[in-house]
Amino acid sequence: MKTSLDLQKHYGLLLGLVPPWMVVHVELKMLEKRVEIDVQWPKGRQVECPTCGRSCSIKDHREERHWRHLDTMQFETIIKSRVPRSECPEHGVKTINISWAEPNSRFTLLFESLAINIMLAAKSLKEAAKLLRLSWDQVHHIQTRAVERGLVRRDLEEIKYVGIDEKSFLKGHKYASLMTDINGQRVLDVVEGRTLESANELWSKLPEEIRTSIDGVAMDMWDAFITSTKTNAPQADIVHDKFHISKYLNEAVDKVRRSEHKELTSKGDDTLKGMKYAFLKNPENMNEKEKVKFNDLRMDRLKAGRAWSIKETFSEFWTYSYQASAEKFFNQWYWWATHSRLKPICDVAKMIKRHLDNILTYLRHQITNAITEGFNSKIQSIKANARGYRNFANYRVAILFYCGKLSLQP
Ligand SMILES: [Zn+2]
Repeated sequence: MKTSLDLQKHYGLLLGLVPPWMVVHVELKMLEKRVEIDVQWPKGRQVECPTCGRSCSIKDHREERHWRHLDTMQFETIIKSRVPRSECPEHGVKTINISWAEPNSRFTLLFESLAINIMLAAKSLKEAAKLLRLSWDQVHHIQTRAVERGLVRRDLEEIKYVGIDEKSFLKGHKYASLMTDINGQRVLDVVEGRTLESANELWSKLPEEIRTSIDGVAMDMWDAFITSTKTNAPQADIVHDKFHISKYLNEAVDKVRRSEHKELTSKGDDTLKGMKYAFLKNPENMNEKEKVKFNDLRMDRLKAGRAWSIKETFSEFWTYSYQASAEKFFNQWYWWATHSRLKPICDVAKMIKRHLDNILTYLRHQITNAITEGFNSKIQSIKANARGYRNFANYRVAILFYCGKLSLQP
């Protein structure tokens, strides 16, 4: 189909072509539901060296390449061009820059931008691929380039607090370590494993001047993370996360309750039947039925009741503003916990005491890994889409794409 000058101009505008690039031919392929648009640089016109911008003559043209563009109505739209190569006296022969696509991309800028928005909105890459009529690998490739672009542009200057946490990856078979920017509410990076090497690798993702100006690092009481932080960010305070500490205390209460329940049941006493969650909840989150049942328990006579009281009392620790008062409170609590004759409680109390210096830092910085918990559902859905994420690098790209707050658009 020969096209009129008007139609060529119209397509030039639609593509956002920057003159003197021009549309020379538009072909509509009805059967393939495809529009093919030929774009050319005018014959004899000087080109710019992509390195220095100097005006040079054309050496030759590259082979014809295709770029997928936004559809025209329901027609898949392809841009075709043979891009000239400049001959710069200083930089030699180079392919000139094109205005509609990034170098080495098979898609136009507008198409990539649409694809990124669809991926952000879609439930899975598979669904995005279907909507865009691309393969999984093609959308994944667009996603990878978007993340690379975002990482180059990313500003890390304002980071004061980071969180380091572990995540299970691949249905709990493997672990990953995650670093977050706590105030910026974003994932900074994720690496495979939860060893000292993993933690060091995670730190190495931040430039030294950023690393060494961080004020505090929230984390679990995990040796690999502690050691690595002391080496890589020695100026930073380590702040053991209060949610992890609550988790250990809850697990201890649960152990006490389970073994006591077993003991009671063997004597035909079902006092603790169905009480598992009541013991793990905050009293204010209990429903009415649980409250009544809980209040009826003779807590003082139950081991689980004592364990629960010790756990609940510890939460007061987080409310202190002064280190000396918090320490005084802790020492009393510690005495109580270690004299409770409840081994699981005693073990957690000792662990807390061993790490007390880096728990007291909470009073000064008030940081936790709660933000990582917030990313969990997103990361969970990324994992659920496991096709392709068996490969750790792909999984990392997806996490940074959805949780990195990166500037992704071309
Ligand atoms: Zn040049």
